[in-house]
Amino acid sequence: FGGIMDWKVPLADVKLGPEEEEVVLSVLRSGWLTMGAVTQDFEKEFAEFVGAKHALAVNNATAALHLACQALDLQEGDEVICPSLTFVATANAIRYTGATAVFADIESADWLCISPEAIEEAITDKTKTIMIMHYAGFACDMPKIMKIAEKYELPVIEDAAHAIGASLEGKALGTWGDVGCFSFFGNKNMTTGEGGMLVTNDDLLAEKARIMRSHGMTTLTWDRHKGHASTYDVVELGYNYRMDEIRSAIGREQLKKLPIGNTRRAELVALYRKLLAKRTPQIKIPFDKERGLSSYHIMPVLLPEGSDKEAVRASMKAQDIQTSWHYPPVHTFSIYGSGAASAEGRLAITDLAAKREITLPLYPSMREEQVEWVVGALKDSLT
Ligand SMILES: *Cc1c(COP(=O)(O)O)cnc(C)c1O
Repeated sequence: FGGIMDWKVPLADVKLGPEEEEVVLSVLRSGWLTMGAVTQDFEKEFAEFVGAKHALAVNNATAALHLACQALDLQEGDEVICPSLTFVATANAIRYTGATAVFADIESADWLCISPEAIEEAITDKTKTIMIMHYAGFACDMPKIMKIAEKYELPVIEDAAHAIGASLEGKALGTWGDVGCFSFFGNKNMTTGEGGMLVTNDDLLAEKARIMRSHGMTTLTWDRHKGHASTYDVVELGYNYRMDEIRSAIGREQLKKLPIGNTRRAELVALYRKLLAKRTPQIKIPFDKERGLSSYHIMPVLLPEGSDKEAVRASMKAQDIQTSWHYPPVHTFSIYGSGAASAEGRLAITDLAAKREITLPLYPSMREEQVEWVVGALKDSLT
């Protein structure tokens, strides 16, 4: 999404300040660039922020999702139920282990998260895990999903890439299931450029993920404990999924700013809702009911059925307003069957919502006036 400067209203915008500059310089001057105290502090602060026992900083959320799948011992022949209306990384992480992603439909055009009923219908004897995604930072129906998970004794992975700072019944999204994965990519609610975090309350899962994060090597502490500190063992085919000190330093500052940013997003969404309802009543705005506290990661709207989305987006672009599409459903991609699942009608709501969805600009430094421009341009684009 380069060329932010070129747009009258870009889709997203990041503001890094003197706080981030200062801590990056201090890491550079320290000469200690990775596997150090800054990352440990970031992990501790993030764990406290979401209320999880363990937090592991990683180089991106895709790595966190992969580690979660690995820690849960997923392998070839296993099935993992997940949404299709998500970023492809959700499903790819499952595939890395050899397991199969089985797509379940979303709740409705009013709530674009995976449906608990569809999850239960998709369960077979091969199902090993449920992976959900909190779309736009709005909560999946976690009480129902956790009940199903308990009934069938299935662990739950939360793709909480959109949901930093969001909660349901006072409990942070990403901490309802067995493992939660967060993203600090450049367009997320807080960023380290590239980066991510895995959180869990499970000691064993945390230890497995920790080992896989760093080449499958046993830790020095563990070696000391076993009495051979001079060397290490490699017990798994691990990866290098670590985060460095520069990014962790940025992450610590971004985490401090997150609550203010999320509050600003909430205000802008409220303004969008008011203006859209008045000026473009034919537009459907999903997530229009109470269910916990959202992080308002993006501003999705559904165009009227039968509208030409590409024409609307082109018209918005001509008015210098950047829009996006969250998402082309994963099951329509070549390596996921090119939409074969649509024919069976199992993803009917996903297909319909995805066809109608466009994402409007949203970022904390957005001005009220810009929200008005976007709504005005959308109104023009519809006629
Ligand atoms: C951004 C995103 C990811 C991937 O995050 P990275 O940190 O870029 O790997 C995964 N899932 C969803 C839903 C996302 O939005």
